[in-house]
Amino acid sequence: MREFTYQRASDVSGALALLDADPDARFLGGGTNLVDLMKTGVERPGRLVDVRGLPLDRIEVADDGTLHIGATVTNSDLAAHPEVRRRYPALAQAVLAGASGQLRNMATVGGNLLQRTRCGYFTDVTKPCNKRVPGSGCPAIEGEHRNHAVLGASDHCVAVHPSDMGVALTAFDAVVSYRSADGPGELPLSEFYLPVGDTPHLETALPPGALITGVSVPPAPVAALSRYRKVRERASYAFAIGSLAAAIDVRDGAVHEARLAFGAVASRPWRAHAAERALTGAPAHADSFAAAADAELAAARPLPQNGYKVTLMRNLVVAVLTELCEEAAR
Ligand SMILES: Cc1cc2nc3c(=O)[nH]c(=O)nc-3n(C[C@H](O)[C@H](O)[C@H](O)COP(=O)(O)OP(=O)(O)OC[C@H]3O[C@@H](n4cnc5c(N)ncnc54)[C@H](O)[C@@H]3O)c2cc1C
Ligand code: SF4
Repeated sequence: MREFTYQRASDVSGALALLDADPDARFLGGGTNLVDLMKTGVERPGRLVDVRGLPLDRIEVADDGTLHIGATVTNSDLAAHPEVRRRYPALAQAVLAGASGQLRNMATVGGNLLQRTRCGYFTDVTKPCNKRVPGSGCPAIEGEHRNHAVLGASDHCVAVHPSDMGVALTAFDAVVSYRSADGPGELPLSEFYLPVGDTPHLETALPPGALITGVSVPPAPVAALSRYRKVRERASYAFAIGSLAAAIDVRDGAVHEARLAFGAVASRPWRAHAAERALTGAPAHADSFAAAADAELAAARPLPQNGYKVTLMRNLVVAVLTELCEEAAR
C-alpha cells in the first residue's frame, strides 16, 4: 500500500484548510468505502483528513419541522432515530437494508452519499474504465452488465449508484449542505449527482475540496406512510439489483400525492417524476400503479443482460404501492 498521512480535524475550518493545503488529500468518514478502494489502488490519497471528530454528529428537528442530519451521524444512529422512524420510515428501512450492522456503526451519512460504484471494472485497476481513467473506455457495455443501469446511462458509462440511503432521501427532497473554501452552500439531492454524459468521472456538483456538513429533509406528511423495498441476489449483506422508496397519500379512493424513487437502476438515485405525475389524481388501484411505472420506465434503455430490471421495477412499484394502500385502509 502507498504511504499516506493521517490527520484528525476538530473543526470544520481546520478540516477544509487541511484539505485545501494538499490536492492529494481526501476526507475520511468511517472509511468503509475509501479504505477498501485504497487497498485495491483505485484511490491513492497522500493524506487522509478524518472528519469523525467534527461537531456534525447530531440529528435535530427545526421549528419548521425540517430534519437536520449531521454529516458524521452514523448510518446506525440515523436508522434508529425516533423522528426518522416515525416521520420517514422508508429512510430508516433503506439505511437498515444497507451493508451490515458493523459497517453501519462505522459508516457516516456524508460518506454514504459519496460512496463509489461497485462496477467490477471500476474496482479492478487492471481494466479500462472511463470513470476511473477518463477516455480509457467502458468494458461493461460489451461485457458484464447484468447489474448495471437501465435509466439515464450513456455510451461512456452504465454504472449504478449503490447507496440505499440516497434513494429514500431523494424521494423526500433532501438537501445536502456543504462548506468549501468559498463558504457554505446547498444542493438539492436532485442536483447533487451529475448526469453521466461523457464525463462519468465527475460524479457530483460539490465544489472541489468541499466538506459535506449535513443533509436536511423538509417536512413531508406523505412520508409517514412510506416503505423501502430492496431486491438483491441474497437476503442480506448485498447491494440492490433494484430498489424502491415509495410514499402515498390516498383520499376518497384517489391518489392525492405520491413519492417514488428508484435505486440501482441509474448512475444516481432516480426520482420517478413521470410516475408521480401519472399517479396524481388516479384511482388508487393496481392498474394505475402499473401505468405509472410504465410511464417512468418508457425511458429505460436496457442492455442485453439487464432487461429484467424493467420488469423488476414495474413489479416493485405495483407491489409496494398496493401494500401501502392496504396499510392506509387498516
Ligand atoms: C461489504 C459492504 C457492503 C455494503 N453494502 C451496502 C449496501 O447494501 N447499501 C449501501 O447503501 N451501502 C453499502 N455499503 C457501502 C457503505 O454504506 C459505505 O461504504 C458507507 O456508507 C460509506 O461511508 P463512510 O463514512 O465509511 O465513507 P468513507 O469510506 O469514509 O468515504 C467515502 C467517500 O466519501 C468522502 N467523504 C466522507 N465523508 C465526507 C464528508 N463529510 N464530506 C465530503 N466527503 C466525504 C470520502 O473522501 C470518500 O471519497 C457496503 C459496504 C461494504 C464494505
Ligand atoms: S460502467 Fe462506468 S464504472 Fe463500469 S466500466 Fe464502464 S465506465 Fe467504468
